[in-house]
Amino acid sequence: MRGVVLHAPGDVRVENRPDPTIEKPTDAIVRLAATCVCGSDLWPYRGIEAVDGASPMGHEYVGVVEEVGSEVRDIQPGQFVVGSFFASDNSCEICRAGYQSRCVHAELMGTIGTQAQYARIPLADGTLVATPEAPSQDLLPSLLAASDVLGTGWFAAVAAEAGPGKTVAVVGDGAVSLLGVLAACQLGAERIVIFSRHADRQQLAKEFGATDVIVERGDEGVARLKELTSGLGAHSTIEAVGTQESMMQAIRATRPGGHVGYVGVSHDVQLPGDELFFSAVHLHGGPAPVRRFLPDLIARITSGAINPGKVFDLTLPLDEAAEGYRAMDDRRAIKTLLRP
Ligand SMILES: [Zn+2]
Repeated sequence: MRGVVLHAPGDVRVENRPDPTIEKPTDAIVRLAATCVCGSDLWPYRGIEAVDGASPMGHEYVGVVEEVGSEVRDIQPGQFVVGSFFASDNSCEICRAGYQSRCVHAELMGTIGTQAQYARIPLADGTLVATPEAPSQDLLPSLLAASDVLGTGWFAAVAAEAGPGKTVAVVGDGAVSLLGVLAACQLGAERIVIFSRHADRQQLAKEFGATDVIVERGDEGVARLKELTSGLGAHSTIEAVGTQESMMQAIRATRPGGHVGYVGVSHDVQLPGDELFFSAVHLHGGPAPVRRFLPDLIARITSGAINPGKVFDLTLPLDEAAEGYRAMDDRRAIKTLLRP
């Protein structure tokens, strides 16, 4: 099969890789209908995260089940499925509490690499959610978004306790942030303020429900937000970048007693204890337990209530993945969908 391999920073190649096979009786093999490039794939692409030899890439996926192992009970060949970037058993105590991304048997899909024609999905019964019927082509981008960016933005909004009567601030304007806006809107937030300096992303944020845009970032951005909120700051803040600046911006944008939902993969973030102490904010986040939200998100997508697939503004054949990475790295694209 064809699959994306990162050899070194900036060096993305689409190569012939061995077809995946059932390795454990709980595995399934999925023929991918669509896959994509994640903002987090840009960390190793840019050399900010070490590249440890030739690495298969990708952790977002939707497709049709081809084969299942002997212990798979619920998932069946022929079903169209959506899964998350962590495989999980969905039955341990951590999963049952809603934290499937930290399942005691969790396996990161990024090490398997779903930017490919086929993928082996561990713990298929726990990981995969089947759609009620085979979706039409126009639903594929939105279902694919549910696999990570929508699920992650949704978790961020839930962790930030976005809801009726709340002012929600969103730090970052990548796909997760934009879908955090959509989630906050669906959860009934009264006012949604996004920090963004890119006109195309501001536009999409408004389509998803943002009411205000602040172009300044850092402490300047926080000052602008406070002007909009009677000097108090947001009730709920979504952090979807993962840098020192973005995390401190999120904490400082949040009023005492408010909630920060942080889902940007942390890169060397150091929290000053004294400031954290006196901020009196709740911090909750981490790798999003997307599996918790998948049944609800799939229902909202198939009913037409939400269209998160709009974050894909570039679609390429899998063989042109390198251009998909370049376009996102240059910020010419918000998110690239790859057709296997
Ligand atoms: Zn578990």
